[in-house]
Amino acid sequence: MQVTELKPGATIGIFGGGQLGRMLVQAAGRLGFKTHIYDPFDDTPAGRIADAQTIAPFEDMAAVARFAKNCDVVTYEFENIPIEAIEHAGQFSNVYPDKLALQTSHDRLVEKTFLRDKADAPVVDFAPIETMNSLSEFVRQFGAPAVLKTRRFGYDGKGQVKVEAPRDVKAGFARLGGTDLIVEAFAPFVREFSIIAARGLRGGLDGEIACYPLTENVHKDHRLHTSIAPAGDVQNVSGEAHAITHRILNALNYVGVMGVEFFELNGGKLIVNEIAPRVHNSGHWTQNAGCTDQFEQHIRAIAGMKLGDTTPKHAVKMTNLIGDEILNADALSQEPNNYVHNYDKRDIKPGRKMGHVNEVLKKP
Ligand code: AMP
Repeated sequence: MQVTELKPGATIGIFGGGQLGRMLVQAAGRLGFKTHIYDPFDDTPAGRIADAQTIAPFEDMAAVARFAKNCDVVTYEFENIPIEAIEHAGQFSNVYPDKLALQTSHDRLVEKTFLRDKADAPVVDFAPIETMNSLSEFVRQFGAPAVLKTRRFGYDGKGQVKVEAPRDVKAGFARLGGTDLIVEAFAPFVREFSIIAARGLRGGLDGEIACYPLTENVHKDHRLHTSIAPAGDVQNVSGEAHAITHRILNALNYVGVMGVEFFELNGGKLIVNEIAPRVHNSGHWTQNAGCTDQFEQHIRAIAGMKLGDTTPKHAVKMTNLIGDEILNADALSQEPNNYVHNYDKRDIKPGRKMGHVNEVLKKP
């Protein structure tokens, strides 16, 4: 892989104008880069503060070409960008993370198969589901509960149904049937955590890898609620989790920041739930931990710079502000250890991520 180190003033293109894009824009600005957001909608959290924006559908290949020609490197902030847009942009600019990472995470079946076969990563038993019979067969073989999911476009628990017992097969299939599905064995986890990792363009064939310490994550209504980092009591899982993360990044020849989500089972056995080829909600704590934050790290990686320090100086608890919780932002920011990040979204909607608060737990 050729290392091209961007000079200050170079333009970083970002597909997607949401909050992750916004925080990438902020980080890129600190490093002296310009940013250009591509999103189908006007007035997005990121588009509003970027140096330039293209407002066009991701399927508009002429607009994608114009955008990529105007950027020195292109990246993305969410994974439901059509592969064709990434491919087309790649004809005019370097795109990181590349097509392989996006294709892998687009489809849960492709992702799980990659993790198991190419990255030697532990995953739950799984199978593609085309008929109700194949779902019954899986539940017979691996037992209940099982989790039926759409292969594509699922996030934050959307597009998934728990099949509690064999008698629920019919109803579960009826709820999601008609799209491509995957079924997974239920992982009886005792804890969920993630690793935010970065792999750069530097450092020879294997790339330079920098991981943050394990983050413990608590979900509410299938959505990330709080993250605490560094997670406690991880001596028996940390080494293995980092080794798995390295294998995943290297198997994809990855460039950029990635979130790797794990389940920890009783006794310290690890399962990889999924990977996200982008900056990740469970990495927001890095913004106030006294190390390089994940957004700057991503920009550093794709700009061919050396990766930054990932050792936190203090522990941080991140809590998402969902829906009208954002109305507490002022009150929360009165607390001396709190740092509120407001995404400046125009409309408050139930369930919508509006911001987050980082509470620094131990200041020196
Ligand atoms: P996902 O959209 O796959 O990240 O799933 C969202 C959440 O649902 C996860 O963070 C878990 O809490 C739960 N979940 C998903 N898949 C499984 C599984 N196979 N076993 C147990 N819990 C799961």
